[in-house]
Order: sequence, then C-alpha cells, then structure tokens
Amino acid sequence: MPTLQDLLHNARQTVPEPDVATVLQHDQPLRPTLIDVREQDEVDQGIVDGAVHIPRGYLELRIEQAVPDHDAPVVLYCAGGTRSLLAAKAMQEMGYANVASLEGGFNAWKSAGAPWSVPTALTAEQRRRYSRHLLLPDVGEAGQAKLLDAKVLLIGAGGLGSPAALYLAAAGIGTLAVIDDDVVDASNLQRQVIHTTDAIGQSKAQSAQRAIEALNPDVNAVAIEDRLTPDNVFDVIDGYDVIVDGSDNFATRYLLNDATVLRKIPVVHGSIFRFDGQVTVLDPRDDASPCYRCLFPSPPPPELAPNCAEAGVLGVLPGVIGLLQATEAIKLVLELGEPLVGRLLMYDARSMDFHTLRVKRSPFCPMCGEDGPDSLEGITYDDISCAIRPDITASVAD
Ligand SMILES: [Zn+2]
Repeated sequence: MPTLQDLLHNARQTVPEPDVATVLQHDQPLRPTLIDVREQDEVDQGIVDGAVHIPRGYLELRIEQAVPDHDAPVVLYCAGGTRSLLAAKAMQEMGYANVASLEGGFNAWKSAGAPWSVPTALTAEQRRRYSRHLLLPDVGEAGQAKLLDAKVLLIGAGGLGSPAALYLAAAGIGTLAVIDDDVVDASNLQRQVIHTTDAIGQSKAQSAQRAIEALNPDVNAVAIEDRLTPDNVFDVIDGYDVIVDGSDNFATRYLLNDATVLRKIPVVHGSIFRFDGQVTVLDPRDDASPCYRCLFPSPPPPELAPNCAEAGVLGVLPGVIGLLQATEAIKLVLELGEPLVGRLLMYDARSMDFHTLRVKRSPFCPMCGEDGPDSLEGITYDDISCAIRPDITASVAD
C-alpha cells in the first residue's frame, strides 16, 4: 500500500511542476488552460483570472467537458501544489498528454502579484437554484454572476415577451423590465403564458412583474405601464444591456431600432405571423451588424401587414420564437457562442422547418449608414410611413 510520500514521489516522475513565471510566459490565448481544483469555499476567497473551477472530487467527471482535447496544455493548481500534483497524475492516466501542476499553487500565484480576483459570491440558495448553470463550463459561477448583474428590457408582455420573460427570470437575469401599456384580455391567454385568467382586465406590465417575482425573487422586476414613444424612448432604454423586442407593430420596431442604433444597445428582434416566425440579433456595437432598417427599409403596406387580432396566430408559435429570443439574450449577456447577428432565422411551424438567411448591413441605410442622423429629431413613427427622411425612404422603397 503506497504512502502519501510514495504517491507524490511517483507523480513527480511524470508531472511537470512549472512555477508562476513559466505559466505567465505565455500571453493569452496561448496560455495553458488553468484548472482550479480547490473546494468552493477556497475559490470564494479568490481565483486566478480566467481559470476554470473544477473541484478535485469532480475532476474526472467534468474535465473532458471543460478540456475536450487530450493534447491541449493544461495547468492544474490548488492552494499549495499538492492536491493539484495528484490530480494531474490522475489526468495523465485519463490520457491527457500535456498536463502540469503549478508549483506553490494559488499562494505562489498571489505572492508573485499575478492577476486574480474574488468572484462574485453566490449564496448557498443561489447555488442550488442555478446549479445546472454552474455545471456548464461555459457558464459557471462567473457566468451566473454576469446574468445576475445583467439588465434586460422586454418590449411588450405579449406573445413573445411572455415566454421570454419567464425563462429570463428563471435564468436569473438580475433586472428584468417589461414595458407594455395594454391590459390582459381573455383572448391573450391562448399564447401569452405569463398572464393568468385572474389577471384579465389588469395591466400586462404589472401582471408580468408579479409572475417574474413569484418565479424568482433574485430578479428585480420592473413594470413600465407605458407605450414606447419618441419622447420617452431614451429614458426607457438607457442603462439596459440587451433589449428583447416583442412588439407587434412597425412604428415601435422602427423607433426602437433608431434609438438603439444611436445608443449602441443590442436588440433581439422577433416577429410572428400565423404559423411563421423570425428572429435576428441587431447589434450596433458590431460594425458588421445590420440594423432593422437595413433589413426592412420600409414597412409593408397596412393591407399586407395585418396584426394578430386580424390574422390569427398559432398559440405555441410565439413560445418558440420568444424562447429563441431569450436564448440569444442570454448568449449576449454571457458573450457565449455565435449570436444571430447578420442572420435572419425563419421558422415555419407547419413544415417544422428552420432556415437562415444571411443579411447584411446596408451602406445606404438611412439610419446606420454613413449619413445617418444623430438624433430622432424630425423622424415620424407611424405604421404607414415610418419615414426617417422622406426622400431617402422613398428612394429605397422605389
Ligand atoms: Zn441600418
């Protein structure tokens, strides 16, 4: 039966033990992946910036998800370098060819003045609530902390806003605001799942706020009983990280687009019609991203754009589209994956067909193009024209 000394001696035969200076030689992104194998209460006191936390007891279970490539360079660390040495040996036995253990561990890292920070600490209750996020290497505690710090605004508590709000609340978006000036009608309940039968006749914004608060007390739910207008738009949108557009009319879409282009706030656009839906991300922070006017320079004539009250809509359709919007909003907050920028995702419920159109930013766009305005002054918003400047819109429309 080997003693601890035997085990450590044995591990040192095959596991390199670089010091802090050696690890820091490589600038990101060439630096090896750093895995912190300490326990949660130790990590709460501080963690190396950019390190992935996998407690020693879960290492074999989770390492292949965090580091799928068995040849990738990995450096494990613990507090002083002993646990990580034994852990690195275990990883070698799993076939990891390029795994090392940081000499002196986190203590040596701190002493060397290398970058580390104290993670936003989740409470024990939050760890339970968000445990399935914490298990995801791409989210983890740092990602959940981002979600809890995030501010998301939903335009409308209707078909799209309802499912989006519920799932964003469940995900732990820290501030979730809903603007809607309508009241709940019995005919809404077939699809606007955030409202209940006893909310008929009540404010949709308040009904949504109550549901969000009941679902997740971590969320600061804000009800804005108003309609987006050129006069209030900046007061409403300023300070939000992401806006989910669930509006049902072109005036609001163009107004929101123009204001967010000026303020550089990303919008997750969604719209639905009968059995069809579409989603895209309009991100003015990204120079390559189109804005809504790049895609749709002018609204269709009213006779070709009936609203849900006139055209009907399959009740589950906004659920699908609203949740795609919520997914994109969470990705934007986490800066995870590929956002739906420059792509218009089209969904047909009858054929159960998703397809994606590539869409481009237009250099001639009257809003985000070179000669675009720097304020909303002089732009009128109604469902007929939404003209940003009548001459330009006319030429685009022709
Ligand atoms: Zn544009």
